[in-house]
Amino acid sequence: MDFKELEDIEHKIEEREDFSGEKVRPLIIFFPKNEEEVVRIVKFARKVKIPIIPWGSGTNLTGAASCDKNCILIDMSKMNKILEINDVDWYVRVQPGIKLIDLFEELEKKGFMLPPDPASFFLCSVGGAVAESSGGMKGVRHGSFREWVLALRVVLPDGEVIKVGEPLRKNRAGYDLVHLFVGSEGTLGVITEIWLRIIPLPKRKMVMISALLKDFESVGEVIVGLRKNRILPELSEYVDADVVRALNKHLNANLKETEGGMLLISIEEDMVNDVLKVLEGKTIDVKVAEGEEAEKLYSLRAQAAIAVKAESGNVFYAEDIVVPVSKLPEAIRRLKEIGRKYNTKFYVISHIGDGNLHPNIIIEDKDTRERAFEEIARMAIELGGSVSGEHGIGVQKAKLMAEQIAKHNGIRVLDLMYQIKKLIDPDDIMNPNKYVELAYKFLNNSSN
Ligand SMILES: Cc1cc2nc3c(=O)[nH]c(=O)nc-3n(C[C@H](O)[C@H](O)[C@H](O)COP(=O)(O)OP(=O)(O)OC[C@H]3O[C@@H](n4cnc5c(N)ncnc54)[C@H](O)[C@@H]3O)c2cc1C
Repeated sequence: MDFKELEDIEHKIEEREDFSGEKVRPLIIFFPKNEEEVVRIVKFARKVKIPIIPWGSGTNLTGAASCDKNCILIDMSKMNKILEINDVDWYVRVQPGIKLIDLFEELEKKGFMLPPDPASFFLCSVGGAVAESSGGMKGVRHGSFREWVLALRVVLPDGEVIKVGEPLRKNRAGYDLVHLFVGSEGTLGVITEIWLRIIPLPKRKMVMISALLKDFESVGEVIVGLRKNRILPELSEYVDADVVRALNKHLNANLKETEGGMLLISIEEDMVNDVLKVLEGKTIDVKVAEGEEAEKLYSLRAQAAIAVKAESGNVFYAEDIVVPVSKLPEAIRRLKEIGRKYNTKFYVISHIGDGNLHPNIIIEDKDTRERAFEEIARMAIELGGSVSGEHGIGVQKAKLMAEQIAKHNGIRVLDLMYQIKKLIDPDDIMNPNKYVELAYKFLNNSSN
């Protein structure tokens, strides 16, 4: 393929791999430095009918940016500026390639925060987090990116640029196209500018309660207990005993190892006693940390997936199931049963407070690994939950997403989603054969 007309745009040829281990072998990688260059690349790709894959930092866990040979990768890392921090209307406007951690640091200097904090915040791009509608450790109180995006500029697959939404807290003008693009996994267009809502840093003192639990089952009971007592932590995160061991082994975490794993609850200092009451009888040890000690625990939790990946020797599937919080005890019991059936441990990392469990499946044999993966996802569907709370669908979960939508919403809904994809991208060049499109194909092939 001759890329001569784009040769003034920074580019290189290399193979990559996303965090899920999916291969990315593009014909070429472009590094646009502004929207105009993105438009030129997209128009070229459309003319020659080559798929385009946007790339943030490649930390997705679902093969969402994978491609085998016939594609152009658009690496957004050179479009990494903060364009505006508005301290009256309380929004920030950024280019998509900025690292989330860099944005957090700049906002903090000005007394602001953007709450959604995927545990990959020290690696991932803001554009990637928006395209995945990532959640994070503070999701229990603040939700995922979906709740924080106000407006977007997007280069559509025909090269036209649109702006959807406004940097307004309220805006009822028309169908909500902003949230069509949020979580669209690069399948509808390339996001080139993002307006995000921000809030002032909290003034009340926060502390981190770290509870070593008696057993795995206790964690579900504690979360239900918090809910019944109307307690809403800023963060309630869980890592099971095997993840604690992996953190000690690979990141020298120096955490105490117990069979029940560790629950972290960040909450206002004046709420500590209420939480301790709920924890009564469920723990072996409880500590209340603040300052640097609390930050260390937060940072270890953020790196838990890195420790699990190191432990796995690259053969892990990261589940992202969500169940209604009321069903957590049942989901945990059934997860243990599935573990026994497959004679394996699941290395559970969890945003447990909002019912979002990440069992990580480390089984050498691919077929068995896939069977366990599907059984867990189907268990979530059966309990009224979802196959993905925040990691998205990519290629790995498309079949299961089709099953979920067919069961909970009906096939007409998936059909509508597919029609939207076809309307916006009739030539099927934007990150094709993934997510909605792939789910639609699974459903149609299985019903034929
Ligand atoms: C250690 C670790 C911890 C994690 N923890 C969490 C967590 O707590 N919560 C959570 O939700 N997720 C988590 N994740 C997964 C999460 O999806 C990603 O980390 C992140 O949000 C993706 O950002 P990225 O920049 O790496 O995007 P990439 O992986 O590069 O891309 C992700 C998707 O977005 C698309 N995309 C990227 N940029 C653009 C753009 N400008 N326009 C259009 N589409 C674009 C890509 O095509 C792809 O489909 C974790 C991952 C790791 C490795």
